[in-house]
Amino acid sequence: MYFCKECGGMLFVVDIETPPKHLPKHEKLIYDRLCNVKCHDCGKIYYSQPYDLGKTINPVRDISNNKPKKS
Ligand SMILES: [Zn+2]
Repeated sequence: MYFCKECGGMLFVVDIETPPKHLPKHEKLIYDRLCNVKCHDCGKIYYSQPYDLGKTINPVRDISNNKPKKS
């Protein structure tokens, strides 16, 4: 969620970058897209904001075997 630097209004996404067409499918999934966001209150547009940033799920490590065994 972004907020306008001018007026503090809520920004909403007006346009999302499309991943480059030459990318293989699995790379499109992890491609960090940019988006344009617009202020709901004053109409100011902020270009090329990170859209996917922080939304990528970290690689999951199976830690179920790391528990100490009760003897
Ligand atoms: Zn604003």
